[in-house]
Amino acid sequence: MTAGKRAAEVSLESMHRIFTIPEAPDSTLGRIEKEISENLAGFLGNHIVATEQALTEIEKDFAGASIPEQPAFVSDHTHHLLDKLVSRSVHTSSPSFIGHMTSALPHFLLPLSKLMVGLNQNLVKIETSKAFTPLERQVLGMMHRLVYRDSDDFYQSWMHSANHSLGAFCSGGTVANLTALWVARNNMLKADGDFKGVAREGLFNALKHYGYDGLAILVSDRGHYSLKKSADVLGLGQDSVIAIPTDEYNRIDCMQLAAKCQELTDNNIRVLSIVGVAGTTETGNIDPLADMAAIAQQFKCHFHVDAAWGGATLLSNKYRDLLAGIEQADSVTIDAHKQMYVPMGAGLVVFKNPSSVAAIEHHAEYILRKGSKDLGSHTLEGSRPGMAMLVYASLHIISRPGYELLINQAIEKAKYFAKIIREHSEFELVTEPELCLLTYRYVPSQVQAFMAGADVETNQALNKVIDKLTKHIQKTQREAGKSFVSRTRIEVQKYGGEKVLVFRVVLANPLTTEEILHDVLTEQVEVAQSSIKFLPELLAKIGNSN
Ligand SMILES: *Cc1c(COP(=O)(O)O)cnc(C)c1O
Repeated sequence: MTAGKRAAEVSLESMHRIFTIPEAPDSTLGRIEKEISENLAGFLGNHIVATEQALTEIEKDFAGASIPEQPAFVSDHTHHLLDKLVSRSVHTSSPSFIGHMTSALPHFLLPLSKLMVGLNQNLVKIETSKAFTPLERQVLGMMHRLVYRDSDDFYQSWMHSANHSLGAFCSGGTVANLTALWVARNNMLKADGDFKGVAREGLFNALKHYGYDGLAILVSDRGHYSLKKSADVLGLGQDSVIAIPTDEYNRIDCMQLAAKCQELTDNNIRVLSIVGVAGTTETGNIDPLADMAAIAQQFKCHFHVDAAWGGATLLSNKYRDLLAGIEQADSVTIDAHKQMYVPMGAGLVVFKNPSSVAAIEHHAEYILRKGSKDLGSHTLEGSRPGMAMLVYASLHIISRPGYELLINQAIEKAKYFAKIIREHSEFELVTEPELCLLTYRYVPSQVQAFMAGADVETNQALNKVIDKLTKHIQKTQREAGKSFVSRTRIEVQKYGGEKVLVFRVVLANPLTTEEILHDVLTEQVEVAQSSIKFLPELLAKIGNSN
């Protein structure tokens, strides 16, 4: 305890009080609550100072490892949080924060989140969730229908059926992908004769029984790293995720995919699943899903679509055809906490066949009894919050046409940004937006002109310097705190497939204006031109080679 700080007492009575007595409206927490519910953007604008502080500096305030022996007053502690934590948080709801997939939230989600947290329903079993269980099943039904468009009868039969499930709600795309591949693995290596199935006997016996030398998961080289984590957890090993090359539009090369499936099959490696990506994390492109489905059918393997980010595009009648073929997938991952503007912790996977989740069914005597409608019998996670309520509320309050407007404006804004980048002499558009994500970099016009006529080796040397400049611009811009774009490293065909560093922009926030996009470029030009190290180095290089 630092001197002068007020000390709250340790007593059972005071412990009772924190459970029963709400904060007074004029307490610090009470005021914060009021400010947040009146004007979130204003609250964040005032409290989140995006001035860059070194992480090592911040770590000093989070250095002690002792649990306090002295309780703090809520108001005092709230001041502490504002000072040490909130003020150093990232202003993700700012319209000029255009670097990541999780971003601004609609306002109504704050009070509704509070309601959800307050009710503290546990979706693992009916006893602790009651109405939340049918609600979650309905949300899964709606999302299933968004993908598969089955009939009313289909949903009436399966949505609330105890022994079936149209999907699994979970914390995010990672767990959704893992769940999909878990279901695929258990269905492929199911009980057979004396063999009790992979779920009981494990992978070693399963491969022995079925006579395979291994399993493989095939995805494009733009696949998300969560697939490797899944392969690791499922006992297949990360190396069983095989990356198939992509074309110039970052879409999987289906010729090479089919050839790889054949080669593996010839070598007695069973293809467990082909995974299509609908909206790659780095470039936002969509694989040719229908062609992939045909290959999966040919090799009798599971077809999963990772639409964690791009899946919400199905809500747009104008753009949903970009994902044509998704309805042939055996399973589809969608993150509501990305393009559906729900707070984090809202991922889901839907299954074409309502019986397929039986492959991962678990029962326990005290909960999850056989034949119960407990959601926990078909999910990896145990205790789980009622996040589905926030998806449910968003689907009602925003509605399908409302989401369509949000999705369409994001895609059209990305196209606009691509246009001004293309027209700007100092920038190079690296990947065109198919959805609302694009990549680009700063390259002075004379360097661009030089590179157009240079050989691969010369360009590779130049790219090394441009990479340093790109990193410098991105970091300086982030530290200045006015706007934020992210950066990633991707292979670029025109540079011989070499990986180059690029700015990555995701245009989800509806409040991002065209003016902001112009400002982002202007700021980047300014940073680049005031670079005393990398820009001169780059210009010297083309001067020398001339
Ligand atoms: C974000 C993302 C994931 C992982 O989802 P989390 O919610 O971060 O766990 C998986 N795949 C793709 C394509 C993604 O964009």
